[in-house]
Amino acid sequence: IPHDYIRLHEVPEGCLLSPERWGARGARLARLAGLGLPVPRGLLLTTDLTRQIAQDGARTHFDGVLRDTFQTLGDEVLLSLRASPPRPEWGGPEALLNIGITDARLPALMTRVGKPGALELYFRLIEGYATMVEGVDPEDFENLMADQVKYWSVASEGDLPEDARVTLVDQAKALYLDEVMQPFPQDPVDQLCAAVDAMARGWNGVSARILRESHGAPPEAGLGLIVQRMAFGIGQGVCGAGVVHLVDERTGTPALSGRFLTQAQGYDALMGMRTPHLITREARETARQSAPSLEEIAPDALTDLRTHGSTVAAGLGDIHGFEFTLEDGKLWLLDAVLTPRSARAAVRIATDLARNGAISRDDALLRIEPRTLIEHLHPQIDPRAPRDVFGSGLPASPGAATGRIVFSPEAAMQAEAQGDNAVLVRMETSPEDIRGMHSACAVLTVRGGMTSHAAVIARGLGLPCVVGAGDLRLDIRNRQIISQDGRSFAEGSLITIDGTRGEVLAGAPEMIQPELDGAFATLMSWADQAREMGVRANADTPQDARVARGFEVDGIGLCRTEHMFFQEDRITSMREMILADSSEDRRRALAALLPMQRGDFVDLFDIMRGLPVCIRLLDPPLHEFLPHSREEMHDLAEAMDIPVSQVVERAKALGEFNPMLGKRGVRLGVTMPEIYEMQARAIFEAAAIVNTRNLEQIVPEIMIPLVSAKREVEVVRKNIEAVAAQVMAEREVTLTYKLGIMVETPRAALRAADLAADSAFFSFGTNDLTQMTYGLSRDDAGRFMRDYVNQGVFAEDPFHSLDIEGVGELLLIAAKRGRKTDPDLVLGLCGEHGGDPGSIHFCKLAGFDYVSCSPFRAPIARLAAAQATL
Ligand code: PEP
Ligand code: MG
Repeated sequence: IPHDYIRLHEVPEGCLLSPERWGARGARLARLAGLGLPVPRGLLLTTDLTRQIAQDGARTHFDGVLRDTFQTLGDEVLLSLRASPPRPEWGGPEALLNIGITDARLPALMTRVGKPGALELYFRLIEGYATMVEGVDPEDFENLMADQVKYWSVASEGDLPEDARVTLVDQAKALYLDEVMQPFPQDPVDQLCAAVDAMARGWNGVSARILRESHGAPPEAGLGLIVQRMAFGIGQGVCGAGVVHLVDERTGTPALSGRFLTQAQGYDALMGMRTPHLITREARETARQSAPSLEEIAPDALTDLRTHGSTVAAGLGDIHGFEFTLEDGKLWLLDAVLTPRSARAAVRIATDLARNGAISRDDALLRIEPRTLIEHLHPQIDPRAPRDVFGSGLPASPGAATGRIVFSPEAAMQAEAQGDNAVLVRMETSPEDIRGMHSACAVLTVRGGMTSHAAVIARGLGLPCVVGAGDLRLDIRNRQIISQDGRSFAEGSLITIDGTRGEVLAGAPEMIQPELDGAFATLMSWADQAREMGVRANADTPQDARVARGFEVDGIGLCRTEHMFFQEDRITSMREMILADSSEDRRRALAALLPMQRGDFVDLFDIMRGLPVCIRLLDPPLHEFLPHSREEMHDLAEAMDIPVSQVVERAKALGEFNPMLGKRGVRLGVTMPEIYEMQARAIFEAAAIVNTRNLEQIVPEIMIPLVSAKREVEVVRKNIEAVAAQVMAEREVTLTYKLGIMVETPRAALRAADLAADSAFFSFGTNDLTQMTYGLSRDDAGRFMRDYVNQGVFAEDPFHSLDIEGVGELLLIAAKRGRKTDPDLVLGLCGEHGGDPGSIHFCKLAGFDYVSCSPFRAPIARLAAAQATL
């Protein structure tokens, strides 16, 4: 468009005006007009022109055009002047309405809208103009009005008699003359030019600039202007102004809401001056209002609003409500307003728009922020509910749950047995707490970070969890927690964990329940069609695997086998194995564990039905399995038929100064080969059983943790191959399997070329890799991570969102070197970052084949993987 201004209805078809040049509202109004919707005629001014006007005045640039505007639109017309900033949040001056009323034009206006209406509009113009153009205090005008209301003893200004209105106009003119020392201008074009000047200059004022820059506006941000014919919301017949929304902002389903005020203009309906009419009869009946609804006052207008809503959705590609005016029964649209929406409503709206062809499926997928799917997956605190927050920490596992405080896993199990919800509160959790965590409805720890034990397990179980709540004091002796402001919550008190926000609340606020069907399911199926990268689940038990299948994952990317050993019937054999003096004794204890492990794998393979299942051989330092309490030590000594002192002695001997860097992972496999041999046997035997029974053949993937040297892999590989050969011979079957490594030490990443020679796949354990790259304990970082992020030392918690610059570079190095050795090397990621959208994006760019995350985060990962492709 060559000019710095354009008439609203003359924008060429298919030409989209840029919000930067014309302001957002101006660009939008042009589109509405282009769609043939009833938008009052008008003129748009660019931000450049406004800038020039601010310097030289409207008369210099524009007098002719404005004069012409009045003439083109018709002699009786009144105009509005509105600001059109490129972004609404950048503010801008208030609109000036009814420009063009003069003494000479008043009689024609009276004929058109009635005498009282015309006088009211004139008063409003003088008030608005004096305030905006001449800086007169609006209170002076309000006082005039208040005095009249008092003098005539009426309830509100709407009830004033005609005489009062005549007086008010006279008083307003007198006030104007007094303050401005000139009479109120009697040339419509003078009024318009002065108003345009005031708006253009006002935008450059210091306070306006500071305000918009605080909302992110650049210093050079300009202001578009809109001059438009007034639609008369005040006048004869059905007149008024209102707002309408066509979709429920909580659910995204079609539903009419809003309000309408008769004999009103602009934002009057929102100002609460009088009680507005509701939109539908149903809403009116529910609110027991006697005043009729818009549906009853002007049914045709409501039907038109609905139709226009569909037109705008199709034309602008999103759901909008309207600001509108009824002028003697005729509907005018003043603006379309994007419908605000909850995370759930956003999914419903996006899928509906794509189904109706207003946007493409890809657009629908790109519109949803993956993280917001959390709101579909877990119960959430109703956003409208009051919140009594008494503690906060890291949002370790999303969702919310209410229960009574318990301080031990046993108490959690007891509560579950009695059908009660328990919130397990611990300093931090350890593997012994897992059973209690299964029984609890939520978990709160005072210590710990995003990959602490409590966080990882809770995410796996889909339990709301807050960790690192350092502002709470755990007073175990008196069985209570104490908040920073001194409130105490005893065992049994009802509290709510909001794991989405990382907050602990007193009492039981209202909840909204998960919603996994309908629009959510549709969006997920589109995501699956669009994505190229696989999404697997981290699942340790058959129960996890079932949940994972429910979330339609492509397989299991990480089965942490250590979690299979904490069940009551197994922990004793495990402990016997760990405390065994000789290889012989160890083998005996392992033989007792074999059938249990085999049973677990049979279940996992059965549930996953031919999908890949990647099993990690034992990883944690063995002392994690040992009993801690005296009582447990006694029980173990009895079971093993050895003195308690020996148990204590052995347990002590297993202690390490720095267990995370000690004898764990593949180091166990090299130094105590019997353990991995038992696990390999259990895997192969289970595969043989399942493959004989099922049509879908399992090709187990076996993964060696914490590798750092090629020789480690060679040693373990040889042992596993030997077991495979034995099982195949014993069972007279042929088995295929894949052996790969976890890349979770920096050395493994750097030596990827070597390691790839012995590995069918690399699975990046980014929890340990982050820990080792930063030299930052994943179990202790929670204590200071918030300070680090608040002070901007880290942009984000690197255990939560992959550190692209550092850890990411190691991933790229390993991927490149590994694939140089073996172009078919499969690359996956199974650290907690596998559920983080930014990290998933990075994996896609790095050419990964899959990511693996907690089952409850799989939908987020599926959508993020789709977005990474699009
Ligand atoms: C990892 O280190 O990223 C990993 C997946 O293993 P774990 O969390 O069990 O150490
Ligand atoms: Mg690890």
